[in-house]
Amino acid sequence: MKVAHNFNAGPCVLPRQAVEKAIEALKDFKGTGMSVIEVSHRCKEWDEVMDECRGLWKELLNIPDTHEVLFLGGGASLEFLLVAMNFLENKAGYLETGVWAKKALKEAKALGNAYAVASSADTTFNYIPKGYEIPTDLDYFHITTNNTIYGTEIKYDIDCPVPLIADMSSDIMSRPVDVSKYTLIYGGAQKNVGPAGVTFAIVKKDALGKVSRYIPTMLDYRTHIDGKSMFNTPPVFSIFVMNETLKWVKEMGGLEAIQKINEEKAAMLYAEIDRNPYFVGTAAKEDRSIMNVCFVMAPGYEALQDEFMTFAKERGMVGIKGHRSVGGFRASIYNACPVESVKALIACMQEFEESKK
Ligand SMILES: *Cc1c(COP(=O)(O)O)cnc(C)c1O
Repeated sequence: MKVAHNFNAGPCVLPRQAVEKAIEALKDFKGTGMSVIEVSHRCKEWDEVMDECRGLWKELLNIPDTHEVLFLGGGASLEFLLVAMNFLENKAGYLETGVWAKKALKEAKALGNAYAVASSADTTFNYIPKGYEIPTDLDYFHITTNNTIYGTEIKYDIDCPVPLIADMSSDIMSRPVDVSKYTLIYGGAQKNVGPAGVTFAIVKKDALGKVSRYIPTMLDYRTHIDGKSMFNTPPVFSIFVMNETLKWVKEMGGLEAIQKINEEKAAMLYAEIDRNPYFVGTAAKEDRSIMNVCFVMAPGYEALQDEFMTFAKERGMVGIKGHRSVGGFRASIYNACPVESVKALIACMQEFEESKK
């Protein structure tokens, strides 16, 4: 069977064993004689998957009892609105580190007083702002921990004097996180924890119910806490694959082990970008993401961009074109991206260099 070196930014590569389990369950779910997409979401067998999946989230991220993990629909893009709906009363601050952060801020502005506390828009978001002060009168401060499009990342849990909310769409489960520092962590599953169609939210329960507006039922986190993520029909298949993906994360040794592998993969690729005279990294070195590695042709070699794209494609590389808003190249090397794929891309860059001699 042909296996591509898949560097897509999302949806993206998933653990092979999760895909195989999904195929089996599509044929026969837990010996029920029905496909996983044919069973009732109220049956005992499905309840077991929900419980197992919730349990894995809690175990892998060490989620304290103060928080609940929810599986929702709508993607991270709908969460942008839910954040403001559930938490914005007087004023909210956002760290503007890219297009996703801007979209999150836009939804908050539509509902009340929200603004960018700091921004890296001045240089096309190629770094994470530093040295800014977080005002203490904010309802919350919102960050995007990994900026998928620009390849920058906040790789640690920041200290925050007000409730901290994080879009972790593209780096959730890539490293251990101190969940107790956050009031809300959310994201679409399709970068690191599963297929598209399910959205995760880890919410601090006692932080809810403090705003005066009416919150529509489906946009109220309390609805989904009370309904155990099954207030309405959940995205059954996506949750099934997410559960299998998390089982794989656990088998790999959990988040400390995964983080180590991720850091090694990223270090290898950045080392080649820094060494190879034909390429140059675009993100500030100290803020380089371990999930999305962005680079361009080095000054003087810009005209070779299309040629390298074709060269890489011919060697089995998929999805290395940079986001349409920034151009260049982006290799997304999420948890499930095998080290072999990273090595293949490095070999491809070296071969390209050789071919020019
Ligand atoms: C992909 C992405 C989103 C958008 O997610 P959807 O689930 O497609 O709405 C938001 N934020 C970040 C950081 C992303 O990488």
